[in-house]
Amino acid sequence: MSDTVQKPLPEMSQVAKPFWEAAREGRFILQKCAACGKHVFFPRIRCPHCSSDQLDWVDASGRGTVYSYTVVVNNAPSAFINDMPYVVAIIQLDEGVRLLSNIVDCDPAEIRCEMPVEVIFEKLDEQFSLPKFKPLT
Ligand code: ZN
Repeated sequence: MSDTVQKPLPEMSQVAKPFWEAAREGRFILQKCAACGKHVFFPRIRCPHCSSDQLDWVDASGRGTVYSYTVVVNNAPSAFINDMPYVVAIIQLDEGVRLLSNIVDCDPAEIRCEMPVEVIFEKLDEQFSLPKFKPLT
């Protein structure tokens, strides 16, 4: 296994740029529709609930619960192989939207669905910090 394999970086689409800029500063933000009041994730140009284009960026709690998860203990050779075991999870955010992320800073055997979690940020480089989640203490 080569040590030169790099983990992929997120793509900086124009619509998601505010999200990544906030994450870089350690702030977790979501879009919220000014027409119907619902939060939106992933970033979009129109509300998936009412089709309004009046989507504002608002501060989010960064808190939620584990909706579902898996522990990766075996993987084809990749840039992530040295991270095993690692946890891939769908987080149900308090704002009502779901986000695919990782759960870190805990024993994977202790994770349960509906467990409360909160966001932390893992700095990848000068441009990107990834939102990940840890158990809420
Ligand atoms: Zn809407």
